[in-house]
Amino acid sequence: MKASSARLDGLGTTIFAEMSALALRTGAINLGQGFPDTDGPAPVIEAAALTVRDGGHHQYAPGLGIPALREAIAEHQRRWYDVELDPEREIVVTTGATEAIAAALLGLVDPGDEVIALEPYYDSYVAMIQMAGGTRVPVTLRAPDFRLPIDELRAAVTDRTTAILLNTPHNPTGAVLRREELEAIAQLARDRDLVVISDEVYEHLTFGAPHIPIATLPGMRERTITISSIGKSFSLTGWKIGWATGPADLVRSVMGVKQFLSYTSGAPLQPAAALALGQDASYFDEFRARLQRQRDQLCEGLASVGFEVYVPEGTYFATTDVRPLGFEDGLDFCRRLPELAGVVAVPHEVFYDDRAAGRPLVRWAFCKRPEVLDEAVHRLQRLVN
Ligand code: PMP
Ligand code: GLN
Repeated sequence: MKASSARLDGLGTTIFAEMSALALRTGAINLGQGFPDTDGPAPVIEAAALTVRDGGHHQYAPGLGIPALREAIAEHQRRWYDVELDPEREIVVTTGATEAIAAALLGLVDPGDEVIALEPYYDSYVAMIQMAGGTRVPVTLRAPDFRLPIDELRAAVTDRTTAILLNTPHNPTGAVLRREELEAIAQLARDRDLVVISDEVYEHLTFGAPHIPIATLPGMRERTITISSIGKSFSLTGWKIGWATGPADLVRSVMGVKQFLSYTSGAPLQPAAALALGQDASYFDEFRARLQRQRDQLCEGLASVGFEVYVPEGTYFATTDVRPLGFEDGLDFCRRLPELAGVVAVPHEVFYDDRAAGRPLVRWAFCKRPEVLDEAVHRLQRLVN
């Protein structure tokens, strides 16, 4: 009996599931998978509860998403980035950013097409480029500052390149692409007539460096699919409400695939997701300030243990080099860490084709309560005592 297709070859189980299962099994503190240990804004959760109880949203939502949510997404893009979108043709609601990424790649990439992606890659990019029959072409962001090597990006474009898949703020490095870097990408996309798929799920998690959507650069709105979700911005990762926005022809392709993946999802949560997007500025300011304090707390703690720490400008992940503590291989380090110190982290190595470039690097999530971060750092002292 044939039990799986070649599309799954080499994909295995995601590192996030593996590491969360390890944390559960060992009782270790989970600084691996990126999810907060506090819930999102109370009024948003209350609105969801009311919607569920009062009914009226328990049947299929429209494939594109309910109008109120599409309008809220349009308003969010206008308010933060001055981008105007037509909610009827230029926005599709998806099952988290994950489905938007899948649908964008499946809707665009043919077998033989190349997709340039920033390495280390978020793991679903690898899986979905492969399932689309495309070839991934990495451009590596390297420690210590994980800047975009623009010459390497230019050299990566061939006649088969279809798209550049971006992620800013970037998981797992925490890099936030600067205007000069985005301009170089935009120029390349315009010159070579490429689509840009831009994953911006950490758009509200920047610490000083501004988040600039590439769709706001000249000539880019018409060739960019911008993807985000409420998971990270509102600490509601389990709701899985995301979206893709862009010009009507590209959004139509995303929708063309999405209708056969899930058709629609999360109907009773969509009105509350619309409410989340409209939170006032104080919500975003407080959220960002809290995460910045947690970033500083964890980074200082990791440095005090002896790791080399790369302080991120965005996301809720910090990266360290484990070699100063006498370890060479981050994957091996992460698999042993629960037993050595009662903590779980995620190795960078699994996000690279050039595994050597990521081997000594380990990612730590700081979207956890301060007392949890304190206890994790306290436990990590066991590595040196
Ligand atoms: N892109 C990146 C870079 C991520 O870190 C994540 C993890 N949340 C996703 C996409 C998936 O987002 P969602 O949970 O909304 O599907
Ligand atoms: N985005 C989350 C992370 O990077 C994980 C989401 C998932 O498990 N797919 O940790």
